[in-house]
Amino acid sequence: MDRFQHYIDGKFEDGEAGFESLDPATGQAWAVMPKATPADVDRAVQAAWRAFTGSAWAGLTASARGKLLYRLADLVQAAAPRLAALETRDTGKIIRETSAQIAYVAEYYRYYAGLADKIEGAHLPIDKPDMEVWLRREPVGVVAAIVPWNSQLFLSAVKLGPALAAGCTVVLKASEDGPAPLLEFARLVQEAGFPPGVVNILTGGPDAGQALATHPKVAHIAFTGGPETAKHIVRGSAENLARTSLELGGKSPFIVFADADLDSAANAQVSGIFAATGQSCVAGSRLLVQASVKDAFLSKLKAKAEAVKIGPPDRMETEVGPLCTLRQRDRIAGLIERSTAAGAKLVTGGAVPEGAGFYFPPTILDCSDAPDAPALAEEFFGPVLSVVTFETEGEALHLANDTAYGLASGVFTRSLTRAHRMIRGIRAGVVWVNTYRAVSPIAPFGGHGLSGHGREGGMAAALDYTTVKTVWLRTSDDPIPDPFVMR
Ligand code: NAD
Repeated sequence: MDRFQHYIDGKFEDGEAGFESLDPATGQAWAVMPKATPADVDRAVQAAWRAFTGSAWAGLTASARGKLLYRLADLVQAAAPRLAALETRDTGKIIRETSAQIAYVAEYYRYYAGLADKIEGAHLPIDKPDMEVWLRREPVGVVAAIVPWNSQLFLSAVKLGPALAAGCTVVLKASEDGPAPLLEFARLVQEAGFPPGVVNILTGGPDAGQALATHPKVAHIAFTGGPETAKHIVRGSAENLARTSLELGGKSPFIVFADADLDSAANAQVSGIFAATGQSCVAGSRLLVQASVKDAFLSKLKAKAEAVKIGPPDRMETEVGPLCTLRQRDRIAGLIERSTAAGAKLVTGGAVPEGAGFYFPPTILDCSDAPDAPALAEEFFGPVLSVVTFETEGEALHLANDTAYGLASGVFTRSLTRAHRMIRGIRAGVVWVNTYRAVSPIAPFGGHGLSGHGREGGMAAALDYTTVKTVWLRTSDDPIPDPFVMR
């Protein structure tokens, strides 16, 4: 079996404890992962704190930090095939997706490399003649980055890129499910030449996450995962009063009006919900379709869903692979069962297939006559599309916003004016019009409500990892008068 190590203070080490990682395509153990204890987490945070305050990192110019990030970007690009194969093996995400996504991850590091020396302070026109006052933008400190199993190289890049550009140091905790690609990525961090302790990477479960998030030397917690875990983290942050940025789940509306290009919309919907086997925070998991085109649109979707090539994730021709964990598959099957009991009707899929591996077929659930079906409210995080219909634009908007989440949304229409009205009305961090799932390092990303707060991507994300220091400098050579002597 393959073995992976933690990366703490510039050194690779076996954990005291370990666990076996399962290949989701077979259900068999294929590698041994180290499991971080609270003591390992403490050593990693102490190393990050020393690096934050030490001259090897704190003494670098912003441009020098940028150069390290450029080097990391090049290494990620060169190692993309290896990292993609590992992510596919350990999480079941199909190779076509991991290959394309990891190659693009390099662009995130490049974007933040370029930003490192553009994070500027300010000079204030202060209302006192003998004072100079300016603001220094300084790194906030040690960042705890906690990520889930899906798209973890990507979800780490949107945290490490801006945090390192700003001058912070990081302890990154990979999910206990599928941590191999991040533990391997640590080798690139070392090769790029970041000083020891600047980036530490370990894995482990909730105990390790909790120890990290509540550590007194952590200043900012950048978390991606589920809302329940986020609530634990926010409660825990009462210990260290660390800032939090939370990228959580979604139940994103995918809205199709009768005037839309239905073939385009169907293609976008199929990739919007079945890509990454539905394990995507932005999955367009709630189809809101105008009643007059429901039958036509659903028959296109059904044909496409049934034609999807399900198979081993390491084959280029595979379009939908297994889920990451058996636990996840059981949860999805249970949510479908509760929804059909509430009146939802299966259009296609829905049954756990025979055989090895954690597979689940593309599934469409018609909830038009079951407005209370849990499938409309709860996140599946799997390849399941829930469908409802609407008659009017107002109704579409009402349904779109009838959710505790608020991450992404899609609107398909040929009407420019309607598109603008929908853009204004939808409560979500992203609105895609006549497209879906497009992302870029230049564009901020994040949500409202149970989808979290804070934005990743773009310039603002780098500023989130900074704090402002106000400097007052007296320019007068006159002695400061004794305040207790009356003049
Ligand atoms: P999760 O919340 O169970 O786990 C996420 C991470 O938190 C893991 O590393 C886990 O070990 C850690 N963790 C667990 N308990 C913890 C605790 N008490 N304290 C600190 N850390 C703890 O999420 P998951 O099931 O692995 O991932 C799926 C969720 O992530 C979905 O809800 C999905 O929508 C969301 N997600 C969001 C985005 C986004 O950018 N908005 C992207 C991908 C996934």
